[in-house]
Amino acid sequence: MRDFGNLECAVTAISGGTLRRVPTTLADITTILEDHYDPAWAESWDAVGLVCGDPEAVVRRVLFAVDPVRDVVDEALDWRADLIVTHHPLLLRPVHGVPATTAKGRAVHRLITAGTALYTAHTNADVADPGVSDALARAVGLSGPLRPLSPSAADPRRGLGRVGELPVPVTLREFADAAAKGLPATAAGLRVAGDPEAPVRTVAVCGGAGDSLLDAARAVGADVYLTADLRHHPASEFRENGSTALVDAAHWATEWPWLGDAAALVRQTGVETRISAVVTDAWTFRSHEGST
Ligand SMILES: [Zn+2]
Repeated sequence: MRDFGNLECAVTAISGGTLRRVPTTLADITTILEDHYDPAWAESWDAVGLVCGDPEAVVRRVLFAVDPVRDVVDEALDWRADLIVTHHPLLLRPVHGVPATTAKGRAVHRLITAGTALYTAHTNADVADPGVSDALARAVGLSGPLRPLSPSAADPRRGLGRVGELPVPVTLREFADAAAKGLPATAAGLRVAGDPEAPVRTVAVCGGAGDSLLDAARAVGADVYLTADLRHHPASEFRENGSTALVDAAHWATEWPWLGDAAALVRQTGVETRISAVVTDAWTFRSHEGST
């Protein structure tokens, strides 16, 4: 955690010999976020930063959410948020317009009409130190030192995924149960591959879709790798070729813990923050009918 002594000075000013509060602007908030989640760290295909909003606008309330979807826009407008900070981009691919006849265009129209800004920190937050996977690691029980699962070439303190040790070894079933408790509940829950009684001490995690780090998880000797969006063939082949267990969590749930870290940074300006509890994972229910 950084020292925000200078920031506190920035939001107050001497006026007529008395200290008065200077309103926090959208630019103040984006400066803090970009100090921790540098847009230059984002993948080349990504779209991060300010989607809509006037940097000079005063910000009093900031809502944090994983997805810039309709339910989250509803929540922001109901709460009269001045800014929504999301992990996922609204407009990842180039567009030629934002007509209100499309879901994304409708979101842009509603936000601008309400005077609510939208800001995204995506892959730049994934690789930050601390970043999205640090928050995930803490949520599933890793309390000690963490290191990137795939360190960035430019700075090995940053990178994708995290690996660490549990304070005491547990079984895979106990780890999965603790992870399920530590993450927000979703319809999808957790899927586990491995011997329930296998001992777990070294844990690798990656927030969001993490099948590109399967080999890295094995290479660091993880007893279990927890991520999201795992598919049958990569998971099956991974299990055939080693003993590392897999836990597949809901994509939204693996990234949600980071919202608290980002909100804590912004809250130090004195603005009101709120973390959306709306479950925006793509999967909304599951059926076990017919299962054996
Ligand atoms: Zn994601």
